[in-house]
Amino acid sequence: MTVVRLKRHAPEAQSSTHCAVCGTVRPGQVTDHVQVGTPGAPQYDEGVCESCGAVLDRVVDRYGANLNVTIEEAQHEASDRERTIPRKAA
Ligand SMILES: [Zn+2]
Repeated sequence: MTVVRLKRHAPEAQSSTHCAVCGTVRPGQVTDHVQVGTPGAPQYDEGVCESCGAVLDRVVDRYGANLNVTIEEAQHEASDRERTIPRKAA
């Protein structure tokens, strides 16, 4: 099982130059420290910005820490199978 450990406002994160989640490179914005993987030997050990740290914090606050997360993109167009009228040529 993958463990995500987030330390908010961690002094050690201040040396990170960018947020590992959103990629922001603004100095001083990387305030949090995330470790992902096996406790003691994390696969990822990096800095996260204040905004991304707050989002992770709120997600766990609201839905609990025992999460398996799946991300999907919503379908915005009918597939060929669902289309009953031939698509107009663009
Ligand atoms: Zn971020």
